[in-house]
Parts: sequence; structure tokens; C-alpha cells
Amino acid sequence: MRAFILWIGICLTLAACEAKNTEVPALTGPVNSGAGLAASDAVRAANQSVADYLDMDDRRDFEAAQRGFMATLPEGIIKDADGAVAYDYGGYDFMIKDAPDTANPSLWRQGQLNRLHGLFKVVDGIYQVRGFDLSNVTFIEGETGWIVVDPLITRETAAAALELVNKELGKRPVSAVIYTHSHIDHYGGVRGLISEDDVASGVEVIAPIGFTRETVSENVLAGNAMSRRASYMFGSLLPKSPEGQIGVGLGQAISSGLPGMIAPTIIIDRTGQTEVIDGVEMDFILTLGAEAPAEFMFYMPKWKAFCQAEIINRTLHNMYTPRGAKVRDGRLWSQYIDQAIYMYGDKTDVSFGSHHWPTWGSDAIIAFWEGQRDLYRYIHDQTLRLANQGYTMHEIPQALNLPDGIAKSFYNRGYYGTVSHNAKAQYQLYFGYFDGNPANLDPLGPVEAGKKFIDYMGGADNVMAKARQDYDRGEYRFAATALNHLVYAQPGNQDAANLLADIYTQMGYLAESGSWRNFYLSGASELRNGILNLPTPNTSSVDMVRALPLDLFFDLMAVRLNGPKAAKKDRKLNFVISDTNEKALLIISNGTLHHRMGHSDDDAPTFNITSEGLVALNAKQKTSGELMKEGSVKIDGNPLAVKGFFDLIEEPPFWFEIVRP
Ligand SMILES: [Zn+2]
Repeated sequence: MRAFILWIGICLTLAACEAKNTEVPALTGPVNSGAGLAASDAVRAANQSVADYLDMDDRRDFEAAQRGFMATLPEGIIKDADGAVAYDYGGYDFMIKDAPDTANPSLWRQGQLNRLHGLFKVVDGIYQVRGFDLSNVTFIEGETGWIVVDPLITRETAAAALELVNKELGKRPVSAVIYTHSHIDHYGGVRGLISEDDVASGVEVIAPIGFTRETVSENVLAGNAMSRRASYMFGSLLPKSPEGQIGVGLGQAISSGLPGMIAPTIIIDRTGQTEVIDGVEMDFILTLGAEAPAEFMFYMPKWKAFCQAEIINRTLHNMYTPRGAKVRDGRLWSQYIDQAIYMYGDKTDVSFGSHHWPTWGSDAIIAFWEGQRDLYRYIHDQTLRLANQGYTMHEIPQALNLPDGIAKSFYNRGYYGTVSHNAKAQYQLYFGYFDGNPANLDPLGPVEAGKKFIDYMGGADNVMAKARQDYDRGEYRFAATALNHLVYAQPGNQDAANLLADIYTQMGYLAESGSWRNFYLSGASELRNGILNLPTPNTSSVDMVRALPLDLFFDLMAVRLNGPKAAKKDRKLNFVISDTNEKALLIISNGTLHHRMGHSDDDAPTFNITSEGLVALNAKQKTSGELMKEGSVKIDGNPLAVKGFFDLIEEPPFWFEIVRP
């Protein structure tokens, strides 16, 4: 029965935000640091040209990011209940210096802005705590208490933010919580602010339609692999240093405390919907299916203030997130921003978001919104223009350059998303992965292709010699391709792995995108040092497990069924939640698992479990043996048949290889 201890890797997606979960907790540190490699001449020259292209003397963002600063907490770190570090907001103090050779100066600048932490006054009545997590939390003065927008990822960081607010602004109760969207950095810390008892006594929780299902379902079926890839994207294993993790563009890092969720009580389901929350009028724009599946922005006439949520940001966001996710539609995204412009542009005095710093003044706000609108539209439309001329996914990024009118604005730079991978995403949205070239219909897998490639290139020594030449010339991209073939052909060739690691390191130093930098540097680290033998992070939170609809739970079991092992083991099982009497018939047929909700079969054994038992099991709080002993699990029929059923479900490994076969 132990095989049934399914780890529901509810990929607590920060998806867009994609900071997927708090997985990989507290691993940040020098445990897996790189080689301390110096930046090459080519990197220094390329980074200088970025600095030359942009107006680095323009300090307006620094003024805005520091405007209204009131105070911060003195400790520099936020701890969890066990004393472990939940968030190290002081860990980026080294970034106060000018950009080193080992960082793209534009990304470094973004990190200098994102690292600023503490309580900031947006206007009288609206305050933000920034830099205490990947995202911002906003406190709006209601008639009776704080209306809190987007309570960070974990209860620890949200509680620290509330503590700071109460200390500086006087203690007031939390009167309402708003989740702008279904990514975990916008709701996960809610239990640091309120409990279910507060909700029972009238505290409202406001969210967009589809919120609850999307929070648990957006990436549940693919969650394990996304979490592992997210450890690369957020640089969770890298040290914070000039040669290591310097942020991720959207914010600096993800916190590693305890996430949770409290279900919403007020649902926003249309644009134009108005609600009065604790005496404050809010007018909503629903923005489904752009940055997140469920999201809204809102306007508050009282302050002429607009909440951008995460639709409008001071970075190019991800139309595809490199940790892996379904792609997002730039056309829709752009249209939502245009809607904000024509509905509220000339009525807005201040615009604030769930990441980065606010914008004050109508002219600056409209220019910012228009710039963001044009950015997503340009990438979407020009990708299709080029695709219709026959350009393919790998050619379009070379041909698509943003006009200066878009590209020179700092808020349109690719600190998180990049033009390159976003253009590919828009191609994928319409055409899928295949470029139409028959050579790409059925190529060999990476190991076989690697062996052939090395053979055709005259052997490993030749490839190494050529790659070294390219490395010395500062030409990294094809050298990375060639050496990747060599590493796949000869995984034990550590010289090849080390040279590829050096190349990735230089590519990381070049990257303007924090996500790309973290991918390159994490790959380099694992090539040099191998995968650390760390415990599997627990990415499930009890609240999320509890919110998981039963049908989705069965879908998750289905994608964890070992097909070959199950292929000749056709069988049926009744599954009953004993206290709610929810039931389903599970059918294994030819290595596939089907569920029929509400059905049962008299001839099949029955697995009875209480709903709290199921939560405990999936959250790994109790084993099935313990649950049987306490009476939460009962089996009617042959227990061995039930065991045989669950033995076919397997838990995927977390620390799989990414840069080696
Ligand atoms: Zn976010």
C-alpha cells in the first residue's frame, strides 16, 4: 500500500509568476557554486554594448522604486517556525555596487531595483510591502481595516509584511483579501493574514472566476517536471553572488515557508463588475487566459488608482515560461492592456502592480501601459507575419527585433521573458513544435544523435578543439550545441562537461533575462558537480491538496500509472470518500486508468477513505497503514487486489538529469 503514497506534486505554480512553489526550500547557498569563472572579453564587450544602448543615466526608476519608503524590518531575513530561512531579503546587499563583469548590466540594474525592500507609501491610503518575496503585497485602507491585495507566497513572508504595516501605520484588522490571479505568489501567504474563522466572521476573499480550480489544476499533471525545471529557472540552488543568482527579473527570489490557500467568497466574473469592499469601490477588468488563466485588474475611483495585477509589469513577461507551461496568447494580453488604457488611462493618477514599483502621473502611466501593450502585440503579430513568409520557430527570433520605440524602455526589456523565447511561444501557439521541415519529423534522440554527430565531426578530440577555439573567440552558441552532443554521446567525459559548463557560465553572464541566467548557471553547476543528493522537496500544501477536485486527482493517478507494468493487469476498483459518499469507479484497461465519477461495480473491491484521510495521505502526513489503523481507510473485498492496484501507481523522481542523458 505504500505505493499509494502519491506525492501530489501540485506544482504550486507561480506559473506566470511561475515561481513555482516553494519547492527546493532553503537550498540557496554556496552548496553548488560554479567555478568562479571570470567574464571573458567577449562577454565584457557585449555587456558594454547593452549599457551603451540603454540610457543607464536615467534614474527615474530608482526614484520611483524608493518613493514613499517608510521603513523595513531590521533582521534581513524572515524565518519560519523552525527557525529556517523563509526569505533572505537582505541577501542581495552586494548588489548595491555597480554591475560586475559577470552580469548583464541591464539585469543587474533590474536586480538593484527589485532588491529594495520594506514598506512604501503609494499614496495616502495605499501602501505596499515590496522585496519580502518574489511579489508585492498591497495594503489598502478600508473603512474598518486593511484590504490586502496578493498576500505573497508563504505565510511567513505575508505575516512579516503585516507586522511591518501594523508597526508603522498602526494596528488594524484585515478586512478583506484580494487574489488578483491564480499563481501562488498572489495567494499562498494568506494564512499569514487571516484564518477561516475570520472568513466566517465576515472577512471577504475576492478572486477572479475559475480561481480555485486553476490554482490547483493549471499544472498539476505535469507538476513534478515543472518543479524540477523551476529549480533551474529561479536559480534556487545557486549562491547569491555576482557570479551567481542576482534575481529573476520579476523579483529576486521565491520564499520557502509554508504556502496555503483560503477559498474566495466573492467571485469576479465580468469586466465592468463593481464591488464595494470595506467601503472602497473597485471596478474590475477581467483578463482571463493571458498572464494567468484566472486574473483581473481593478480601478479605485477614490484614489484614481489602478491595480495592474501582473498584466502590466516593468519587464517583458513570459509568453512561455522556461520551467515549462502552456503558452500564452500575446494578442489577448495586449488587448487587455489596451482595454485598461481606454477605460481608465485618463482617469488614473497612480498605477501599481503585483511586482515592481508603482507609476505616478497620467502621462507616465499612459506611456508605460502603451509601451507594454505594443510589446506583446509586436511579438505576437510579427511572429505570425514572419511565419506566414515561411520563417520557422528557430529562424524567427533571429529575424525579429523590437523597434527602438519599444526596446529602449526599461520596462520592456527581457528581464524575465525574452523576445526570443516569447516569439517561439507565439509560433508554437499557432503551429506547434514542428517547423514543416521533414528532417525534423523523426530525428534521432539526443544520445543517438550525439554519437552520430561526434562520429561525423571526426571524434571527440576534434569537437573539443573546435569548441575551445569558439570559446576563445567568444562564440558560444554553436559550441554549446556541439558540446551538448558530446556530453550526450559521452556522459562520462568530464573535460567536455567542464568546457560546456564554462560556456554556459559565460552565456549566463551575458543574459539579460534572469531566468536564462539561472538556467545557464544551474546547468553549468550540475555539469561540474553533478546533481546534489538532496531530499525531494515537498511541493504540496495541505490547503492545495484539500482543494484538489477528485476527478483531477484521478487524472493525476492516471499519468502516474506505469503503463507497461499495468498493460496486462486489467482490473476495477471502487473508490469511496466515506464521509461525503463521493464515489468513483476506477478501471485499468490496457495500461490506462479511467475514472467514472459517481459509478461503482458490485464485483470490484472497494477502497474507502475519509476526505481528511485522503488529504493526510496525499500531503504525506500519514501512511495508508496508519490510516487503516486509525480507521480512516477501510477495504471491502480482497485487500491484495487493492494493493495490486495501487502498486501500479508510481511517484516520479524529482532530481532527474537536465544537462546529461
Ligand atoms: Zn506573480
